[in-house]
Amino acid sequence: MANRLEGKIVAITGGSQGIGLAIAQRFAQEGADISFCYRSNKAGADEVVQDIQKLGRKCAGFQSDVGLVSDGQKFIADTVTQFGRIDILVNNAGLERNADFWNVTEADYDAVLNVNLKGLFFITQAFVKHRMDVPSSDRKPGGKIINISSVHEELPFPHFASYCASKGGVKMLTRNLSIELAPLGITINSIAPGAIETPINTKLLNDPAKLHALLENIPLKRLGKPEDVASMAVFLASSESDYATGTTFFLDGGLTWNYQEQ
Ligand code: NAP
Repeated sequence: MANRLEGKIVAITGGSQGIGLAIAQRFAQEGADISFCYRSNKAGADEVVQDIQKLGRKCAGFQSDVGLVSDGQKFIADTVTQFGRIDILVNNAGLERNADFWNVTEADYDAVLNVNLKGLFFITQAFVKHRMDVPSSDRKPGGKIINISSVHEELPFPHFASYCASKGGVKMLTRNLSIELAPLGITINSIAPGAIETPINTKLLNDPAKLHALLENIPLKRLGKPEDVASMAVFLASSESDYATGTTFFLDGGLTWNYQEQ
C-alpha cells in the first residue's frame, strides 16, 4: 500500500514524548515531513528529530510553550518558514492537574486551560490563516486539523475539573469550527483517548490497585498504546477521512460505555 501521507507537511504540538511522539513517528513512516514543538524536553526532542531524519523525512523540533499565544503563533510561522507550508495540524500538547475543586488555584487552572484550550484555539487560528494564504483556484485551500481531546470531554473525572472543562471546550470548538471552516475545505476532528500508556499516567502505572480497578472497567482489558492513537490519527490525516468533520472519535477499549467513577 502506498504511503498515505506522502509529501504532506505536518505540525504537531507536544512531540517530544507520549502520544505526540508516536504520531510524529507514524506520520513520518507514512511519508510526511514533521515539525513539532515541545515545552522543555530538549533531549527527547533532539532524539525524535534524529530518529525521523533516519527515516529519510525532514524533521524539526521547536521549543515553544503553547500556553503562550505568541509562542504558538511563532511555532506555526517558523514551521512555514522552514518547510514552506503546513497541510495538517495535530493539536496534541496537553496537561492535567489533580485537586479537589475547592483547592484548585488560579495558577493551576491557567496552566491547564492556557495549554489545553486557549493555546489550541490560537494555534488553530494561526494555521487557518496560513492555509487561507495558500493559493487555490476555488478559494478552498483545504487542510486537516486533528485535536487530541480525551474521553473526559464527555465523562466526568472528579478532582480534574479544569482538565474536563478544557476538553469539553475542545469538543465544542471542534463542532463549531467544522461549520466555519468547511467553506475553506478544512476539516477538523478530535480523537478522544481513554487511558493510554504514556508518561502523563506514570502515577497510575505505578499504583497496582488503581490500575487493576481501571482495567476492570475497560472491556478490552488493557490500556491503550500511543501507537493506537497514532493509527487513528493517520486515518484522520489522510484522504480516507475526507467526509468526516466536526466529530470526536473515541479510542478507549470500550471504557466510555462501561464507565464507573473510581
Ligand atoms: P505526555 O506524555 O505528558 O506528553 C505531553 C507532550 O506535550 C510532551 O511532548 C510535552 O513537552 C508537551 N507539552 C506539554 N505542555 C506543553 C506546552 N505548554 N507547550 C508545548 N508542549 C507542551 O502526555 P500524553 O499522554 O502523550 O498526552 C498527549 C495528549 O493526549 C494530551 O492532550 C492529553 O490530554 C491527551 N490524552 C492523554 C491520555 C493518556 O491517557 N495518556 C488520555 C486522554 C487524552 P515536554 O516533554 O517538553 O514537556
